Amino acid sequence: MAKMTVKDLDLKDKKVLVRVDFNVPVKDGVITDDTRIKAALPTINYILEQGGKAILFSHLGRVKTEEDKAGKSLKPVAERLSELLGKNVTFVPETRGSELESAIADMKDGDVVVFENTRFEDIDGKKESGNDAELGKYWASLGDIFVNDAFGTAHRAHASNVGIASTGIPTVAGFLMEKEIKFIGEAVEEPKRPMIAILGGAKVSDKIGVIKNLIPKADKILIGGGMTYTFYKAKGMEIGNSLVEADKVELAKELIEAAGDKLVLPVDSITAAEFSNDVPTEEHTGDVPEGQMGLDIGPESIALFAQTLEGAKTVVWNGPMGVFEMSNFARGTIGVCEAIANLKDATTIIGGGDSAAAAEQLGFADKFTHISTGGGASLELLEGKELPGLAAINDK
Ligand code: ADP
Ligand code: MG
Repeated sequence: MAKMTVKDLDLKDKKVLVRVDFNVPVKDGVITDDTRIKAALPTINYILEQGGKAILFSHLGRVKTEEDKAGKSLKPVAERLSELLGKNVTFVPETRGSELESAIADMKDGDVVVFENTRFEDIDGKKESGNDAELGKYWASLGDIFVNDAFGTAHRAHASNVGIASTGIPTVAGFLMEKEIKFIGEAVEEPKRPMIAILGGAKVSDKIGVIKNLIPKADKILIGGGMTYTFYKAKGMEIGNSLVEADKVELAKELIEAAGDKLVLPVDSITAAEFSNDVPTEEHTGDVPEGQMGLDIGPESIALFAQTLEGAKTVVWNGPMGVFEMSNFARGTIGVCEAIANLKDATTIIGGGDSAAAAEQLGFADKFTHISTGGGASLELLEGKELPGLAAINDK
């Protein structure tokens, strides 16, 4: 898995193409969260310090029609980047053409160019998302080196990652990408033991691949969240109105069988009659009675999970333990966060859009070794799949 990084190449005087993840939320032309722009700074600054010219590009949202373009320009991102870098950033409102080419030709060492949203190329025949060969070749022709720092799209083969790389241009990982591969890759493939996986969230169907891949690799797998009840059903337990995927009950049986005592299910639930924070809650050991739905793991489960986590050296967590968005059902997720915060010398990783949001929102973000930013990409890495964007980066 050792991939070349930006540190392995001489960048002086080089035109460095950088696929960043600037897919930030924009409302009325204003960026509402610039975390992703800040996260790209280490790679950008390194390139500039080394005397390279940084040509940056990214997708922003989905663009299918001309109308979609409004509000999807990278211009405000280029402006914010300029403030963060404390230097001039040239924005080119095109994804190809003479203005872009001459802006690049005019660059001096340490200069920064940002060009327009790569998905603007999707309007005319999905050239970006469909990895149009001619487009990848064109973008590659604009630079000397390609740095891929957009982990969030690594599970997709697009012109702006795989397309450029497959022209044979030297292709290396940026620091963000390097961090994701290192933490998730090592946690799954060569973990310090005991290694404990925690899987929750809404549905089993989203996480089947992850559970299957981790059964032989983890020492224990803790299950929580809505998927609990499909496993309960598989064990012949009562689940009331809890979330269940009837067509996954057989599969859950197989997973229980395959995992043996590695699989640890919750022993109790916090339930309510409605999916709401405004109705009374109940606590039930084992079965969930008729009329109730399980919306969080209960106190005995929190204690069991905390005890199981004691002494863990690697923890990989995807999917909240309950409906943490409602305070009545956040305790399970908080309890597991606390157990993880108490670990000594452990590598702890949380990934998934909602899981990362939960860690932030509940105030535990700084307790994890690594919060994986790429939702789909981190899931596929946990599933042991080959990510095309990663595969296209040169090996060391
Ligand atoms: P991630 O985005 O981290 O991969 P998921 O999208 O799989 O996580 O799941 C997150 C969602 O699961 C949250 O919105 C949460 O409210 C929901 N959830 C957790 N536990 C339950 C439950 N018992 N019943 C219904 N929904 C649940
Ligand atoms: Mg989610």
